[in-house]
Amino acid sequence: MSDRTRIAIPNKGRLADPSAELLRKAGLVFEMSARSLSVPVRNMPVEVLFVRADDIPELVHDDVAQFGITGLDLVAESGFTPDVVVELGFGRCRLTAAVEETSPVRSLDDFAELRVATSHPRTVASFFAGKGIPVTTIPLRGSVEVAPKLDVADAIVDLVSSGSTLMVNGLRPVATILESQAALISSDDGRHTPLATMVRAVVTARRKRYVLMNAPAHAIETIERIIPGADAPTVVPLAHDGMVAVHSVVDADEMWTVLPELEAAGASAILVLPIEQMIR
Ligand code: AMP
Repeated sequence: MSDRTRIAIPNKGRLADPSAELLRKAGLVFEMSARSLSVPVRNMPVEVLFVRADDIPELVHDDVAQFGITGLDLVAESGFTPDVVVELGFGRCRLTAAVEETSPVRSLDDFAELRVATSHPRTVASFFAGKGIPVTTIPLRGSVEVAPKLDVADAIVDLVSSGSTLMVNGLRPVATILESQAALISSDDGRHTPLATMVRAVVTARRKRYVLMNAPAHAIETIERIIPGADAPTVVPLAHDGMVAVHSVVDADEMWTVLPELEAAGASAILVLPIEQMIR
C-alpha cells in the first residue's frame, strides 16, 4: 500500500476541470494525461486518482482513496455517509421534481402513484417514502427530461442549475428535493490533515478580497463601519500628514456596496487584490 494520501477526483464531466484546478491552487503540482488513472503529486506525499464522479463516494468509503471531490447529490445517491470536510462552491445544482407544463400536478402530494424518471433513484425513492407519497421510480442514466414526452414516465426528478433545460423541454418545476454542490469528502475525520487544510484555505480565500486604500485619518471611523465582518483593519501612517493607508479583508460579495461607500468616505487609490489562500 502506498504511503501517499490518495484523493479521487472526477476524470470527466463538469466537475473534472474545477476539481483539478482547485488542487493546483492548493499548491499540488501534478501532470494530467487522458490515459492515466492515477498520478503522483510532485511536491507532496499525495496521489491523485481520476475516476468517475459517481464512483468517488464508494472509493472513499472503502478507503481506496482517503479523500474525494464529488457532488453532494452523488454522495446522497451512493448511500454512503463520508465526512464532508468542506463544500467547494462550484458544481451548484438542485435535484428538482418537474412535470409537463400541461400536467394537472401542482404539488408533491400530487405525485402519488406517478412514474418518476430520474438519474437519482435511491435519493428519490427515500425522499418520497419519507413523505409517505407512493411513487414508482424509473431509473435512467441520461436524457431524463424527455421521459414524459416518450410516455416512459409521468414526472421527472433531475439535476437543474439554471432551469433552462426544463423550459426547453416543456417541463414545469414543482419542488426542490436536494441542493447540491461539489464537496471535499473524507473516509474518516480528515479535517485536520495538511491536504484538507490547504483545500479549505483556497475555498475560504476565493470568497474574500484584500483591499488597500489611502484615506484621510479623520475618515477611519467611517471606513471601519463600511468594512464589516473583517477583524480591525490595519492602519499605517503615510508620509503626508493626516493621511493613512488602510488594509483589510472583505467578502467578495460585498464589494458591490463597499467600494462606492469607501470612495464616498474619502478613500483613494483603492486596490482590490485576490487572495490565494486564507486560514481564519
Ligand atoms: P456530469 O459528470 O457533468 O454529468 O456532472 C456530474 C455532477 O455535476 C452532478 O452529479 C452534479 O453534482 C454536478 N452538476 C452541477 N450542475 C449540474 C447540472 N446543471 N446538471 C447536472 N449536473 C450538474
